[in-house]
Amino acid sequence: MKFIKILEKLSNACGVAGREEEVRVLMKELLKPNVDEVRVDKLGNVVAVRRGKKDRPSIMIAAHMDEVGLMVKNITKDGFVQFAKIGGIDDRILVAQKVILHTERRPVTGIIGTKPPHILKEEEKKKIIEADELFIDIGANSKNEVEKMGIRVGDPVSFDIKFTRLKNDIVVGKAFDDRIGCAILVEILKRVGEVDCTVYGVGTIQEEVGLRGATTAAFGLYPDIGIAVDVTVAGGVPGVKDIEAPIKMGKGPSLTVADRGLITHPKVLRLLVDAAEKLGIPYQLETGLGGTTDAAKISLTREGVPSGVISIPTRYIHSPVSMLSLDDAENSIKLSIEAIKNVRSF
Ligand SMILES: [Zn+2]
Repeated sequence: MKFIKILEKLSNACGVAGREEEVRVLMKELLKPNVDEVRVDKLGNVVAVRRGKKDRPSIMIAAHMDEVGLMVKNITKDGFVQFAKIGGIDDRILVAQKVILHTERRPVTGIIGTKPPHILKEEEKKKIIEADELFIDIGANSKNEVEKMGIRVGDPVSFDIKFTRLKNDIVVGKAFDDRIGCAILVEILKRVGEVDCTVYGVGTIQEEVGLRGATTAAFGLYPDIGIAVDVTVAGGVPGVKDIEAPIKMGKGPSLTVADRGLITHPKVLRLLVDAAEKLGIPYQLETGLGGTTDAAKISLTREGVPSGVISIPTRYIHSPVSMLSLDDAENSIKLSIEAIKNVRSF
């Protein structure tokens, strides 16, 4: 399967944090042909193993399977569905979205209702409508009707956005954070070939709510090196200053020097930079980002795991739809494979 097809499948799948099943099934299927073993651990991380030579180091490459989304919180007597946010979502982008409620029985489509401008008061027009004032309208008239459709408190709700290719290498879709990482992980294991080190490819759960799956997976595997493949904020759009977001889409993978949870181990950063320079791949160095990745938790495992991050510059992350460059993804795959070939114990 072509890389773009893999990304499309993963992007269209739903995996709100804690409910990653659809993505997990896909990842198992996609990873299986190219590794020695794929297993699902107790919490639901997918662990693919490609065994290297005895006594050689191991590297864990993590990409998180979950996405930000919503969860059914309350059903009103008139049949409206109120929700909680799962992960960091900006309230401003929720209004008027088409969503899918994933019940035990079948998916139900709904929209997040809004008050039309005709009846808005002047002060209301200037105000951000907060998530707890919003509701999902599925066209039902009563609580009973909603419940008959199988909707229960706790059901995950995802945005209804389909993957689309724009010009050349530019694609838009849902949950590129971090399905692009998942797709890259699949592709790395497909192309890596014979290498000395053992490669653990891990699709992690619940990253968006506290890097949880990576914490337990890394404890179990205790690799010599950890790499998270994730997305980062791409600037270069109107209203965003370079000092706020200097990383740009299409200018190569971003290598984290430091973020809120990790200062990249200098030897891991060297490994990644050397790989990019050897192959002549453009790359961007990034520091000072307010967020963090699975690598933060991997690095603090047991006695410590030198760790780093390869990020795909992505516009509009944590919104229903985001944008990235397939060229950046391709360069991240090549860079990762070159780094894997040169892994040593530190
Ligand atoms: Zn992420």
